[in-house]
Amino acid sequence: MRPIRPGDRGPAVAEIRTVLAGLDLLPADGPGHDDYDTATERAVRAFQQSRGLSVDGRVGAETWRALDAARWRFGARALYHAVPEPLTGEDVRSLQERLLEMGYDVGRADAIYGIRTSRAVAQFQREMGLKPDGSCGPHTVNALRRLGRKVVGGRPQWLRESDAIRQAGPTLVGRTVVIDPGHGGTDPGVVVPDGTLRWTEADLVHDLASRLEGRLAAAGVRVQLTRGPSPATCLPDADRAQLANSLGADVFISLHVDGHANPEADGVATYHYGTDNGVTSATGERLAGLVQREIVARTGLRDCRTHAKAWELLRLTRMPAVRVEVGYLTSPDDLGRLVDPRFRDRVVEAIVAAVQRMYLPIERDVPTGSIDVSELRAIVAAGTVVD
Ligand SMILES: [Zn+2]
Repeated sequence: MRPIRPGDRGPAVAEIRTVLAGLDLLPADGPGHDDYDTATERAVRAFQQSRGLSVDGRVGAETWRALDAARWRFGARALYHAVPEPLTGEDVRSLQERLLEMGYDVGRADAIYGIRTSRAVAQFQREMGLKPDGSCGPHTVNALRRLGRKVVGGRPQWLRESDAIRQAGPTLVGRTVVIDPGHGGTDPGVVVPDGTLRWTEADLVHDLASRLEGRLAAAGVRVQLTRGPSPATCLPDADRAQLANSLGADVFISLHVDGHANPEADGVATYHYGTDNGVTSATGERLAGLVQREIVARTGLRDCRTHAKAWELLRLTRMPAVRVEVGYLTSPDDLGRLVDPRFRDRVVEAIVAAVQRMYLPIERDVPTGSIDVSELRAIVAAGTVVD
């Protein structure tokens, strides 16, 4: 769908304004106001910022879904496990975050009322002496409200994620890593002309992905790419996440290259799942930090740090997931580096080192830049583990 953007008019704009007004981001106005004016754009940007979405002031598919889900305030409707179309919305997410804080296992706060959320609600109901039907009606809402925010436990699902990693031991052999080269098909991503040729983000990240595939496979890792070099269409992010889930991946790495109107913008940034409410994926955050530090140390790209985002790609994946923006294609400096295959090899070695370090217990972690990736193969062959 074409994004709805400043200057547009029509019923879709009126609907967007109604949702934004309901969130107190716009003053409520009379019916018939269907202008995507500057106030609307400001409100859309504020909304995108608050949801960890890319802030571009337009309503594309992802922002539209987030707006649609945002209509629902917790307690405004009964929640239950609907089959086959589960209920989704901000109210579901509020409920999940609340349950997570109290130590109930809902998996990830993905705003989808699935079987796991229903089971967690039933467990909560049992402990509160309510009928354990797994649905969240007025009694359960009241019980949750009465507890207020006094009951706060750990963040059990992230602790479990790190436990699983620790228990699996430090070897990479037999792990499944899904590598996601961004864009592709009809969507080239960032495009920069170079004489009669042009560099595209889609091609560069696919090259990075194939190099990474080779390096990881040499270390005994099962690797799957989300797309080939020239797919017919561009796979939506939600489908890429679904693919990683269905493969039972241990790690998900999405590769992108950034672009900006200002050629001075440059550097590398890594994103992991997290929301403004402070809910974050501890393992995703750790992997993002390792990837970021290794790339900065091994390539000299400017450090644009790690950031928490609630993008579908990061929210819907059920394993530690990161998205790396490896430099700016629009920066002459970064472009000069990215077009050099030796530079791309260094980026790939940095990512392999980061994945390996994620599986080392904290007390056995090694300094950034110190893992010799070429030795991993010999180590695999010898049947031992990097130490
Ligand atoms: Zn991209």
